[in-house]
Amino acid sequence: MSSDVTVLMANLSGQHFIDGVLVAGEGPTTPVIDPATEQICAVFAEATTAEIDTAVAAAMRAQRAWWALSALERTEALHEVATALAEVAPLAGEVMTREMGKPFVESNWEGGTSASSLRYYAELARHDQGRVAGAALPGQTHLTLKEPLGTVVSIVPFNFPVLLFGWQAAASLAAGNAVIVKPSELTPMTLLALMEAFSVLPPGLVQVLTGGAEVGAALVGHPDTHAVAFTGSVKAAQAVARTAAERFKPVLIEASGNDPFIVMPSAPIDMVARGAAFAAFLNCGQVCTSAERFYVHDDVFDEFVEGLVIEARSLRLGSGLERVDLGPMASERERQRVEAIVARAVEQGAAVLCGGKRPEALPTGWFYEPTVLEVTHEMDLMHGETFGPLAPVCRVSSLDEAIALANDSEVGLGANIYTEDLAEAFRAVHELETGIVWVNTPLNDNDAVAFGGRKLTGSGRELGIEGLEQFRRSKMVMIAPEARPDPEWFPYADEDAFPG
Ligand code: NAD
Repeated sequence: MSSDVTVLMANLSGQHFIDGVLVAGEGPTTPVIDPATEQICAVFAEATTAEIDTAVAAAMRAQRAWWALSALERTEALHEVATALAEVAPLAGEVMTREMGKPFVESNWEGGTSASSLRYYAELARHDQGRVAGAALPGQTHLTLKEPLGTVVSIVPFNFPVLLFGWQAAASLAAGNAVIVKPSELTPMTLLALMEAFSVLPPGLVQVLTGGAEVGAALVGHPDTHAVAFTGSVKAAQAVARTAAERFKPVLIEASGNDPFIVMPSAPIDMVARGAAFAAFLNCGQVCTSAERFYVHDDVFDEFVEGLVIEARSLRLGSGLERVDLGPMASERERQRVEAIVARAVEQGAAVLCGGKRPEALPTGWFYEPTVLEVTHEMDLMHGETFGPLAPVCRVSSLDEAIALANDSEVGLGANIYTEDLAEAFRAVHELETGIVWVNTPLNDNDAVAFGGRKLTGSGRELGIEGLEQFRRSKMVMIAPEARPDPEWFPYADEDAFPG
């Protein structure tokens, strides 16, 4: 670790970012453990009720100042934030790798991609602020005006701390809101390290309160927060949605996935194996859109499995600060959870084709080998999110069967298909019950295209115009240029009275 980052993490330990400054937290502290070394690398404080109230009050003041600016001024400020974000990305990236383990190339990338989202929304928000309808009364102007919601509570998980906060913050801020973010307990320092990038904005417009589920729940339930953007597990999402529903707060829910990955014979299987390895093992499989279940046509099953095993064995494991492809899993608990999933699959008859254990060469750190298993669809690991470096592969005999098994899921975030048959590709696009379908291009995003899931994965959308609308409300406005009598007013005409 560079000495700059050592000093930075020590300075950020136990702090919140409230009203534009770092403030020493008064609540109890918890250590943050570097998953590659198992050493404590920082501590975070649990935000107290008083700290939450202070942040919420600051957010309300800042939001008024922000919305009082012109749309063009907000756009220009957000472009400045984007530039600053890209500059701070390597530092925040190093902090992220220390906190949750992913290779630096991935953690550094997150800042740049958030900057891109900010620039997209900065422009989109000033492009229009509602619409003018054809008037229902002569001479009048009737509008649907778009306004911000107020203060948005952003709750993010550990796996993409900067990217996921970046998506939510970009759309929320561009829409005219303030944002209070509650990072994951595993990655609190990363977002604190990012805050200098927002210094051009009114103090209090973007704030970080660290802590666990209770801090998140308090922010969601607070009478003076107005909307919630949640990314995380289904169970936590359900708790958040219930609390928000008490006050009818709009909620964006981005929860768990269990993405299928279909392989058809027309695809070039050596290429598919590379794509599959990336889709299954990126960030140790700790990606909401990880390929979690492979359905591979009989005709290419053996060739695909052989290729995927070669790819898995070639991945370099180690500290994310070294030249590696995979870091450790984010926490000891996560690795134990994945070990239990593999043990259960083996008990149910799965064959481990590679991996399935901790790497002997890395006795320290929460590493787990990228694992390929031959399975059947009935096994437990095909029916829940594994969120680990696992690629369970199941044989299918047709596209019909593959689509039917892919849709046999309680969640519906993304789905992949590899095929160079156009008819198969279109069938997959239309028949897969997911919010995203990738044809021959696994796991990619586009700021301008709506991202999100169906079923228990959640509700609402990020990115695209849909992502902006998530954080705006409509106001009905009717303007008559002069005060004139309305023919519908009292007194009613006698001839219109009840004739009986
Ligand atoms: P998690 O649900 O444990 O925690 C996510 C966040 O929610 C954390 O900040 C946590 O402190 C907070 N939280 C937990 N309970 C809460 C409550 N009752 N009220 C308020 N806040 C609460 O998830 P995790 O383990 O950090 O992340 C992994 C999960 O996130 C996976 O299921 C993954 O699929 C999902 N995820 C989904 C998307 C998506 O876009 N759909 C993206 C990334 C991750």
